[in-house]
Parts: sequence; structure tokens; C-alpha cells
Amino acid sequence: SNSLVWFRRDLRAFDHAALHQALTSSNRVYCVFVYDCDILAALPRDDRRVRFIHASLASLDAELRRLGGYLIVRQGRPLEVIPALAAELGVDAVCVCADYEPDAVKRDARVNERLEADGRKLLSLKDHVVFEQDEVLTLAGGPFSVFTPYKNAWLKRLAAKPETLATWPVDQYAQAFAPPPGPPALPPLDELGFEPGEPPLPAGMEGAEALFERFVARVADYGRARDFPSGDGTSRLSVHLRFGTTSIRHLVRTAQQMALSGAGGSGASVWLSELIWRDFYSMILARNPQVTTQSFKPAFDALAWDSGAQAEERFAAWCAGRTGYPLVDAAMAQLNRTGFMHNRLRMITASFLTKDLGIDWRRGERYFALKLNDYDLASNNGGWQWAASTGCDAQPWFRIFNPVSQSQRFDAQGQFIRAWVPALAGLGAKEIHAPWLVPRDELARKGVVLGRDYPLPVVDHDEARKRTLERFAALKKGD
Ligand code: FAD
Repeated sequence: SNSLVWFRRDLRAFDHAALHQALTSSNRVYCVFVYDCDILAALPRDDRRVRFIHASLASLDAELRRLGGYLIVRQGRPLEVIPALAAELGVDAVCVCADYEPDAVKRDARVNERLEADGRKLLSLKDHVVFEQDEVLTLAGGPFSVFTPYKNAWLKRLAAKPETLATWPVDQYAQAFAPPPGPPALPPLDELGFEPGEPPLPAGMEGAEALFERFVARVADYGRARDFPSGDGTSRLSVHLRFGTTSIRHLVRTAQQMALSGAGGSGASVWLSELIWRDFYSMILARNPQVTTQSFKPAFDALAWDSGAQAEERFAAWCAGRTGYPLVDAAMAQLNRTGFMHNRLRMITASFLTKDLGIDWRRGERYFALKLNDYDLASNNGGWQWAASTGCDAQPWFRIFNPVSQSQRFDAQGQFIRAWVPALAGLGAKEIHAPWLVPRDELARKGVVLGRDYPLPVVDHDEARKRTLERFAALKKGD
């Protein structure tokens, strides 16, 4: 029998559930990636993620060729391309790693229908997460909606089923790969309608592994270092996890070993915890696809977010990094220019949009979706609903980040702000977090006139805080 492995967000050729399944159950294995023309049409022509995918496909094809196979790359609608290619190649099954995003679930169901109509099947395997939506449940058999008890149950389940982390080997079954018909011929970016350019970070399996090795050497310090955006305390592996150029099992295995052996200090278990957040939000989305557009806690959809011309102006200021709050603006500059934003800053900017500007979390969530290299519906939505206090969150809703004290705490010397907001580069550590509090002549001496070189704050935090408390209190009364 022959199989086709359809790559999507799993662009690697090691520890791969679908590849392993295909290679161990068929005589001939083909591999394909489809550039989905509907997804591409919606993206800017210099989209950084398309560059990342493009570079990662070259690396995947090279590795498949080293193993004796190759990657077919097509453009079009998967619903048409996959069944047609399956027929052309005469395969019996199409193997994929499961994707839990609501649109992907619908797409796969439709592809499966078409394949079945031709006597073929779609085989979907767990790969992207350690535990799927129905694997970690409460004692009563229901889903968790709060992270910490979920995490404890997740760890317990892993201890009971260590085989969950077993590798899905590829190379020892490589004889089943269908050999390449000719030299590599992947479509260049301009043929796809995109501007050629380098990916935002080293792509492909080797890019992921290099980042991981560098991070492993620093993991012991992660618990402390991860909160400071000007440092290099986190792994930066999120893009690789998003596109599957690394394997979640490989990362969790290493984190677990380092935590157990003590080699990773406490940092390794803190990092493992972050990887569990990823499973948690994937589970939340898979079980509650409505959260894509609705609040996890439905009552919060009655919140009266600000709208109108002033709200539009404020939203535009937030997007452009012109709010007058230096750390918020530095964070948005980093996002706009690089496609990355540090986790602490995602929390601060999301809190600022929803709790200081009173703007619906959905608008910020969409803006991040457009810009983030590691954009992932489940984690982004989860993060936004957490920040807006509409999601699964054990914290009371009146926890409102103060953008100035967050700045003083997490960018104490102002290095991050200076790096991203050059207008403020001349200010010292005491002044830089809230320049409007600095006497005008002193600011002028350092080359800054507020309103000319750098904006005045778009809102007063204390007033905004009061309005947010009222907004949420009105909701409670309405209950
Ligand atoms: P590390 O600190 O090295 O963490 C390792 C990995 O753990 C990450 O790569 C990621 O896969 C996972 N992880 C870490 N924190 C979280 C978290 N809070 N939730 C889920 N997974 C986590 N992460 C995304 O991958 N895509 C998104 O679109 C996304 N949007 C976010 C939006 C908001 C408003 C917030 C508050 C968080 C968001 N996150 C998102 C989570 C987190 O900010 C990023 O995963 C992290 O900053 C990526 O950097 P890193 O790889 O260096 O992380």
C-alpha cells in the first residue's frame, strides 16, 4: 500500500507521528505541503511567517532527500489538491498530524469526506501536543478550566504514562520513501506572490535545534530571567513550536530530564510549566471552539467596551506604539518591527489595551494575529482572554496592571525602552518610565518635548482604572 504524508504545522522529519505511521505501514510514502491560497491571499506580501515556512520547507525537503524521499509542494485549496494528489499517486491513505484549530478541524473533515468518497482515508494522529483535549480530566471526568489543577493532573498523567513521550522514529524506516523524480524544485517566494527575504529567525529543524541547545545551557536561570524583556532569558522556540520544526515531546523530555537530574535547576520545571500552558490552551480551544469569537465566560460578552472616534484613535495609537506609556510603546515597536514580543510585554500591552484603553480584547487579539511570528490561535486567544479577565483565569478581574510600575519592575534600567523608543534614549532610569512626570525644562535639556518628540499619555492610568472597575461592576450588577 502507498501513503501520502500531508505536512501542515509539523515541518520536520524526525519524531513525527504521521511520518512514522506512514513509513511503518506502507511500501511507498510520498510527502506534500500545500500553500493554501486562501490563507496566503489574506497576508501582507512581506509576511515574515511565509518566509519562515518557505525556508523551513527547503530544510525539510533537504532532510527528506537525505533519507531517500522528497517533498512535493503545491499551491491551491487543500480540499481540492489533497484528494487529487492522492488519486494521482494512487495512495490508500493520507496521514496527518492532528490540528485542533476550528477551521483546520472543519477542513480536515471535508478532505476526509472527499477521500472516503474515493475509497481512501485520512489518518489523523496526535503529535502537536503531549495530551489532547480528552486526556487530562478532573476526577469527575470533566474538563479543567483553571491552569494549576490542570497542570497537576497533566504531570500525574505523564508520570503514569511515560510512553507518551516516546519518539516516533523516522530514519530507520526510510526505505519506504518514494524516491525523488528529480532535483529539488520548491517554488521561490516571488512565484508565490511574496517579496523574497530572510526569515525572522533561523528556520527549519536546524534553526530550532540551535536555539534549543543555546537555551538548555541557560535554562537553570529561566525562573528569574524569563521576566525581563531586555535580557535573553527565554527560549524563543515559539515559532518553531508553531510550525513543528521541533517536537514538543523532544522539548518536554529534555525539560523533564533536566528537572529530575537537577541539571536544569528550578528553571527546567518552570519552563516545563510554560509548555504545559500550551497544551492547556490547545485543550481549551479544542473543547470550546466558540472562544475564537466569544468570551470563555459568556457573561463577559455583555461588557460595554469603548467604541467611537476616540476609541479608534486610541486603538491606532496602541497599534503604532504611540500611547505615551514608554514600555507599552517599546513593546509594540518590537512587535511591529520584528514579529516577536516578550511574554511579560504581551501581558502588559494586552492589559493596557483592555483595561487602560477599554477596548475589546478581540481587536488586540486580531492585531497580534496579524503581526506575531509565533501566532497560534489557541495560545493567543488564551493569553488575550487571560489579560482581559474574560477567560479561564483564577485571578479576580480587578487585577489591573499598572504600566508604570510594571515598567519600573521589569525594565528597571530602561534598557528595553531605549532600544525600541529612540526618542527616549537620553532619559535616565528614573525618568524613562513616566516622562510626563519629569519637569518640562529638564526633559527639554535631554532633547525631549512631549507632544513633539514623544506622545503625551493617551489616558491617565488612575482614571482608566476606575472606569474599568466600573465597567466590570456594571456587568456584575446586570447578572
Ligand atoms: P518560553 O518562555 O521559552 O516558553 C517556551 C514555550 O512555552 C513557548 O515557546 C510557548 O510554546 C510555550 N508558552 C510559554 N508561555 C505560554 C503561555 N502563556 N501560553 C501558551 N504557551 C506558552 N504564544 C504563542 O506561541 N503564540 C501566540 O500567538 C501567543 N500569543 C500570546 C498573547 C498574549 C496576550 C499573551 C499574554 C501570551 C501569548 N503567548 C503566545 C504566550 C507567550 O507569550 C509566548 O509563547 C512566549 O512569549 C514565546 O516566547 P518563547 O518561545 O521565548 O517562550
